[in-house]
Amino acid sequence: APAPPPAQHLFSDPAEIEALRGSLLAWYDKCKRDLPWRALAATEPDADRRAYAVWVSEIMLQQTQVATVIDYYNRWMQKWPTLQALAQASLEEVNELWAGLGYYSRGKRLQEAARKVVSELAGQMPRTAEDLQKLLPGVGRYTAGAIASISYGQATGVVDGNVIRVLCRLRCIGADSSSPAVIERLWDMANALVDRSRPGDFNQALMELGATVCVPKAPLCGECPVKQHCRARRRKLFGKPAPVPDVEDCGAGGCPLCPPAAEPWDSSLGVTNFPRKAAKKQPRAARTATCVLERRGCHGAPEYLIVQRPSSGLLAGLWEFPSLPLAQGLQEEKQREVLADHLRAWTGRPVVAGGLRFIGEVVHIFSHIHQTYVVYSLPLDGDVTLDPALSPSRWVTEKEFHASAVSTAMKKV
Ligand code: SF4
Repeated sequence: APAPPPAQHLFSDPAEIEALRGSLLAWYDKCKRDLPWRALAATEPDADRRAYAVWVSEIMLQQTQVATVIDYYNRWMQKWPTLQALAQASLEEVNELWAGLGYYSRGKRLQEAARKVVSELAGQMPRTAEDLQKLLPGVGRYTAGAIASISYGQATGVVDGNVIRVLCRLRCIGADSSSPAVIERLWDMANALVDRSRPGDFNQALMELGATVCVPKAPLCGECPVKQHCRARRRKLFGKPAPVPDVEDCGAGGCPLCPPAAEPWDSSLGVTNFPRKAAKKQPRAARTATCVLERRGCHGAPEYLIVQRPSSGLLAGLWEFPSLPLAQGLQEEKQREVLADHLRAWTGRPVVAGGLRFIGEVVHIFSHIHQTYVVYSLPLDGDVTLDPALSPSRWVTEKEFHASAVSTAMKKV
């Protein structure tokens, strides 16, 4: 078993833990933001309905800002107010509502999990973090802890990006905060700290602190309800203590939770010395040719061809203008030729590469891909028969396009 971390990185004094819980909860009661899922969780008497509301909000909030999520959440809950209603929805409906929120597999898995609860668990949500994580697709350790603590009152902690930042600062943890060893320590800490009588509020308070006060770049330490427990702040105010390994400082080298010896405390950064992450991998660059095919619809209004992506992989099941990944370094002329070939399959008629009009380039950043769409357009005359043997495709007006399950990248195109 690994050696326990040095005392300066732990919460070991029960009186201090009690005081921290009290200060944090008092601050949360006074300062928390009004958010629709909180209002529902506070007023809904049925625990399973509460759990469903928390679950939907937590899945939407992964990688997405609160301000963006609110509207999606409200529309979702209006359309599918219960797990049972969601279980009956089609994937197409889910994708349409999710369009623009990104990371589309989240919506799909939420719906699959709802179906599983209805068909395999007799409509009963699992009630502990362990069971939620084990039984529901798409529910990881964090989401399971959030649902179990907020909806069912289980005294279990949560660790998300906000909690990582707050805990690393409170306890001067400067080792790579994305490493499994550090994450495991943070879970231990979150589980030890969580308030036994109000676990859901405590977890939300810790996350709220990270979201509104202990923010990444310019934390508001002066207003922080737990500042008297914060070792990063103490270190900023009073500097580095004498180089004697004691409860204030681990001394040079060897500590698994201190900043690496090669990157010591930087006094110009203050508390933002923590947390630290190993350098992120650069997103890979990719180019895709895409063509907006246009025809006159039966009422004379322009219509555009959209086709459905495969049911797995990036943007699974979403609709897009016919598109084709391009090999690196392909010349413009060659790009047109391969795109024209690709379009021939969709339209069932020859497409002359020279007839494609270059419109411009659109850049969209996915989490791991720096994607450039090279956009062309092509007006078509006469009737076009779509080949039913190919992936599903359809002609849509501009209004229908915006109501379809299309990604933000395609809307930019
Ligand atoms: Fe974060 Fe500052 Fe509060 Fe410490 S005192 S927890 S760094 S806001």
